[in-house]
Amino acid sequence: KVVLENLTKQFASRQKKGEVVTAVNNFNFEIPDGQLIGLLGPSGCGKSTTLNLISGLETPTTGKIYFGDEDVTNLPPEERGVGLVFQNYALYPHLTVEENIIFPLQNLKGAQKMTKEAMHQKAVETAKLVQIDGLMERKPKELSGGQQQRVAIARALVKIPKVLLLDEPLSNLDARLRLQTREELRRIQRETGVTTIFVTHDQEEAMSISDLIIVMKDGVVHQIGKPQEVYDEPVNLFVAQFLGTPQ
Ligand code: ATP
Ligand code: MG
Repeated sequence: KVVLENLTKQFASRQKKGEVVTAVNNFNFEIPDGQLIGLLGPSGCGKSTTLNLISGLETPTTGKIYFGDEDVTNLPPEERGVGLVFQNYALYPHLTVEENIIFPLQNLKGAQKMTKEAMHQKAVETAKLVQIDGLMERKPKELSGGQQQRVAIARALVKIPKVLLLDEPLSNLDARLRLQTREELRRIQRETGVTTIFVTHDQEEAMSISDLIIVMKDGVVHQIGKPQEVYDEPVNLFVAQFLGTPQ
């Protein structure tokens, strides 16, 4: 499980000098193992900041983060065992699909070190999972957006992460690909059982693929629950309106 304990992140405001923005305001909750969690809320509510705290790209102002019983609050991102996927894919343009996928395997040390052949096998296995094993020799610019995002997902999964963090991974895809890729993501998450946090501002998307959703606004968590429960019994007007619960 991932545990957030009294977790707060403040930034100096970009708009008003001297003011503070509380992007994440005293989060206290647990994310159970093996589930797909949808982190949902309007633009600017603190979703990316929450993911960045969990991955270690940002350090909290106060509070702690645990993976299981391990306090990871002061661990750098590369030691946390997280897989990251962003909106803009962020592939290495000069590397092939296969080279992109095996990138995280290349700097393993000691007993974890892998031979070229073992890395190739692992790349093929992971590419099959996201159905891009026919594209291994291509460069990112020779792929569609959906295919590029699958490469990014494969790269995030090749080292089997403790937690897979996806920040609006489908928002650059057209409507049809978005639907298709989200079903794929759901399948991949079930097959791998990797604890996954999926950020989106699209309530329909979050509702359709999540085991649990976390609804937030202005740095505050308003409700956590199964999609249908949150939809049927929103705790306040904001949640009701955001999810479109009939009044
Ligand atoms: P979006 O849906 O638009 O991606 P978000 O929910 O991911 O939004 P965040 O990016 O986490 O929101 O931002 C939360 C708040 O923190 C916003 O008010 C944002 O302006 C502010 N913020 C984020 N990063 C910084 C930073 N490095 N410096 C100052 N303010 C920041
Ligand atoms: Mg964001």
